[in-house]
Amino acid sequence: MHNKTLSELSASLHNGDISSVELTQHYLDRINTHNAELNAFITVTEDKALEQAKAADQLLQQKTAGALTGIPLAHKDIFCTEGVRTSCASKMLDNFIAPYNATVVEKINTAGMVTLGKTNMDEFAMGSSNETSFYGPVKNPWDTNRVPGGSSGGSAAAVAAKLAPIATGTDTGGSIRQPASLCNLTGLKPTYGRISRYGMIAFASSLDQAGPMANNAEDAAMLLNAMAGFDQRDSTSVERDVPDYTANINDSLEGLKIGLPKEFFGEGLDSDVEATVEAAIKTYESLGATIKEITLPNTGLAVPTYYVVAPAECSSNLSRMDGVRFGHRCDDPKDLTDLYERSRGEGFGVEVKRRIMTGAYALSAGYYDAYYLKAQQCRRLISNDFQQAFNDVDVIMGPTAPTTAFNLGDKTDDPVAMYLADIYTISTNLAGLPGMSIPAGFVKGLPVGLQLIGNYFDEARLLNIANRYQQNTDWHKQTPDAFK
Ligand code: GLN
Repeated sequence: MHNKTLSELSASLHNGDISSVELTQHYLDRINTHNAELNAFITVTEDKALEQAKAADQLLQQKTAGALTGIPLAHKDIFCTEGVRTSCASKMLDNFIAPYNATVVEKINTAGMVTLGKTNMDEFAMGSSNETSFYGPVKNPWDTNRVPGGSSGGSAAAVAAKLAPIATGTDTGGSIRQPASLCNLTGLKPTYGRISRYGMIAFASSLDQAGPMANNAEDAAMLLNAMAGFDQRDSTSVERDVPDYTANINDSLEGLKIGLPKEFFGEGLDSDVEATVEAAIKTYESLGATIKEITLPNTGLAVPTYYVVAPAECSSNLSRMDGVRFGHRCDDPKDLTDLYERSRGEGFGVEVKRRIMTGAYALSAGYYDAYYLKAQQCRRLISNDFQQAFNDVDVIMGPTAPTTAFNLGDKTDDPVAMYLADIYTISTNLAGLPGMSIPAGFVKGLPVGLQLIGNYFDEARLLNIANRYQQNTDWHKQTPDAFK
């Protein structure tokens, strides 16, 4: 049952082969059996899930159900869920019960889906390995000595191990695509503004974007249909029609122009990963696409630019966690300063503190022009490179991550090595463009992701490009032995 696609599950639910309660129970049982090993979930909402499933079954019986009604999913623990702990994997929010639903959660509830629980992540989404979580690291289902990637590592591990048919994630610099790559999933980060950020705990507001983490492109398209759209409560969400993302998923790729940026195939890229990506690109040629080498000359600026912009925005966003209104509060504060200092000192982990301090420094009066303003200028150069490239090509392809999943602990003492795990994904966020990672093969038993980058609002095209590849390959169908 857990190897079905969303449309197969939907058909089984609609024709009465299975009820949503049975399906939900099946996944809850799998979570029960496997979560201790993977640590993919922070919270499992068993009772609420079964209630939602019952309600879904009624709609299914009345024949008023939609395509997603009754299908379970997991939410990254960054999305506010009414009445349920929303921790962002931080001690700071360990006791925070969200009083309302994020727009994404509300839309998915309205579509009739069933929430199984909240998935583990890097603390406040800062990380590339899921090792900064207050609740401990997540293990990669392909090899439990290895990281699943981050920051949406819990969602990635849950879907890869079939503890949920699909999950939500968020991507500020690669956090949907990089764990998708390391866990053999199809992950999509939409155009900035495509999905509301309301109720999604902010890390870096000008970069954050939610998206689906799925077993295949069609599943991702179905969930994106429910997630996307303008929201009055998020002034950065874009007022633009939401197409049916499944409608053109089978279109031919004849004549598709693929750009390969030479900067994505240079130093630092593992040679086996490179060979795997090149083989995937050959498959696209056999499907009628043509290949062109392109250049994104400012690629080298992406990581340093991101590590000014993201910390600057996070230092501002996280200032609301002050021990006064919600979240962790220290015991017996002497005075207000002591309350702030100890609550924040105790509540935040090392990586979050490092980012807040870097960001506060970059924004300080004497350094603003030298760092923050300069970073914004670099950001413009990076976006211009992409626009230049899209004059000649329809889609840009390359590796999602420079290596396959690394061992737990390998990079925890070296923040810069960790930051480089997102070297190919970060520029997309700086430009606000949509990007995907799709399974493209294996190196020594570990998954490799192919990255697809599209122009603004080209999600439907990316999903089509991904889906055609998946009709001709079966990498995305592979499941780790222990979780079959
Ligand atoms: N790994 C990057 C970081 O640590 C990106 C994280 C993300 O996309 N949320 O900031």
